[in-house]
Amino acid sequence: MPSTNKGPGKAYRKSISHRRFFQLFPDNAAAERWFVEHRWQGGIRCPHCGHDNIQTVCKHPTMPYRCRKSKMGGCGQFFSVKTDTFMEASNVGYLDWLYAMFLVTTNLKSVSSMKLHRDISVTQRTAWHMAHRIRKALAASDGDLFAGPVEVDETYVGGRQRNMSNARREALPSGGASHMSPVVGARDRETGRVAAEVVEDTTDPTLQGFAKRQVIPGTAIYTDEATAYASLPNHDAVRHSASEYVRGRVHTNGIESFWATLKRAHKGTFHRLSPKHLHRYVDELVGRHNFRDMDTLEQMAYVAAGMDDSRLRYKDLVA
Ligand SMILES: [Zn+2]
Repeated sequence: MPSTNKGPGKAYRKSISHRRFFQLFPDNAAAERWFVEHRWQGGIRCPHCGHDNIQTVCKHPTMPYRCRKSKMGGCGQFFSVKTDTFMEASNVGYLDWLYAMFLVTTNLKSVSSMKLHRDISVTQRTAWHMAHRIRKALAASDGDLFAGPVEVDETYVGGRQRNMSNARREALPSGGASHMSPVVGARDRETGRVAAEVVEDTTDPTLQGFAKRQVIPGTAIYTDEATAYASLPNHDAVRHSASEYVRGRVHTNGIESFWATLKRAHKGTFHRLSPKHLHRYVDELVGRHNFRDMDTLEQMAYVAAGMDDSRLRYKDLVA
């Protein structure tokens, strides 16, 4: 019987089977072509210097490209599609990397390093590193800034107090959310995308800093009445303390439903985690939320967009 509780759009999500995966990617060369197409969508660029005058060299065993030296620049170095990505310095072949991406994106919650290790015959240690790097790329693929309207809110997620160092426990404010870590998040109403970060504190500079990094200047921002947000530009707030939850377009219901998901996942799956790993799981849940309506190949392309370590990101520029 078909499931009836699928959200809008999800019924059309195309997932591909393992059999179909190997029809699409029968060998290493096919997988390498896929990586080349998705890493360099506007044509091959040198990862060392950014030039696009590239020569294909057939005789090099692992570095098939060379940046042409010319008067226009170019550094003359050899590279491959692995250079400056999560695949760099790994002996694992392209097909195994792509299959690992397929497994991680289609089983984000449950793929274990044990399963990867069995399915692609690498050591469990290598499998753990591969899964970790793929999840990191997924989190790094944060795409465009939010154009809004954008809801911004913060919440507290519990790590257990006994997993916390004494220094950290003492640094916490007394009372209230004493064993919890603050997380600040934003949701773009136009695209449904979310962003979230574990933060040290909930002071004005921290919360506003997050909001300003995440949105295009001029974007309408909605929050609750927390004073930390009060001086944000283009900002409007609902007054939860006065039992006001929605005033026309002004509400934070979207980001709050993401918090509910985060807390459920944390309770069910991540309850053994110490707070120092919380950010990884927040990243992972953000990634899962943002690509939940894509089909499998789109999800893999989304991960590929985050694999380029040499890519300049807006976050790094303003940090
Ligand atoms: Zn170069």
